[in-house]
Amino acid sequence: MTRPQILPYGRQTLDQADIDAVIAVLRGDWLTTGPMVTQFEAALCQHGGSQFAVAIANGTAALHAMYAVAGLGPGDEIIVPAITFVATANAALYVGATPIFADVDPETLLIDPHSIQKQITPRTRAIIAVDYAGQPCDYKALRAIADQHGLLLLADACHSLGGHVQGQAVGSLADMTALSFHPVKHITTAEGGAILTDDPQKADALRRFRSHGLSRTAAERAEAGTWRYEMVELGYNYRLTDMACALGLSQIQKLPQFIERRRQLAAYYHKRLAEIPAIRPLQHKEAGHAWHLFVVRLPHRDRAWSSLIADNIGVNVHYLPVHLHHYYQTRFQTGLGLCPVAEQAYTEILSLPLFPSMTESDQDDVIESLQKFMRTYT
Ligand SMILES: *Cc1c(COP(=O)(O)O)cnc(C)c1O
Repeated sequence: MTRPQILPYGRQTLDQADIDAVIAVLRGDWLTTGPMVTQFEAALCQHGGSQFAVAIANGTAALHAMYAVAGLGPGDEIIVPAITFVATANAALYVGATPIFADVDPETLLIDPHSIQKQITPRTRAIIAVDYAGQPCDYKALRAIADQHGLLLLADACHSLGGHVQGQAVGSLADMTALSFHPVKHITTAEGGAILTDDPQKADALRRFRSHGLSRTAAERAEAGTWRYEMVELGYNYRLTDMACALGLSQIQKLPQFIERRRQLAAYYHKRLAEIPAIRPLQHKEAGHAWHLFVVRLPHRDRAWSSLIADNIGVNVHYLPVHLHHYYQTRFQTGLGLCPVAEQAYTEILSLPLFPSMTESDQDDVIESLQKFMRTYT
């Protein structure tokens, strides 16, 4: 069995309404910051259970803005999980802070509260919860540690938009929450991201950070009848376009059905994988799992990757632990032994294709390719 084309591990799901929404913006007056930004932000608040949402250029910019507005800077330590996308840690470096790596739970690969406790020093300022694969972290435990030590609890929820913990939406569980709308994520704006918060001052600061640190946007100046604006702090051009926000607004209407479809696909993988005991899916504890990734652990991972790729099954590895990247090893003297659970898991994990428009028959191809691999190598 070789598929004629690669089955990717993730991809966007777009329909005619999405395309029409973008074209309507192209025919209108505002290409960048306009009415679609505000409407998309309102929809994000609804789905994320937050008072405010600030749309921004991408998920990495969302993390940068979130750390900056949280007041994190030189001399501060930020605790991040070892298993995450590099951007979670890199954004700490953008603001001059130091990322400190915590190990992960061996069953879920979510940040391990015990490991966080061990990494806390007088310089620690924040804990970053990463809802790896779409499963919300143990926010109760993380909040307890944060409160006990006077730390901020921030979320990198780039995997978990649409997820929840006992009915509380991802987006309402941390002091601020960063999102990404990259095409492999739950909804897309091509490039795009957002920060959610309940704090009006933080929301204002995030808006200034997004646009050069200016006290008024072009639209606000027009409304106030003045040309006058002032730069009150150092900001960036991290704005998201009206075209992108129109796409996001159209996409977010479908978020609940996208999540439901991902749940169905995950359930079918679980059912089929029960036939192959040597391949173990990660544990899922939370009913509010948003299923961004379907991650399994299996023997001979590198060979498995090559074997499935040869069958045109687009498997992937999420992630090389951040502290093992060359840059971190050379600049921060991190290396093997720092987070042993993450390091062991890394040698065994493989992400199987998962996106709303894939079919059960696509999944059968994935299982068949895994079975073939297991017959050959074990
Ligand atoms: C995708 C992602 C990011 C970065 O988002 P971009 O929009 O690609 O900049 C950050 N953290 C995690 C965990 C991600 O999955």
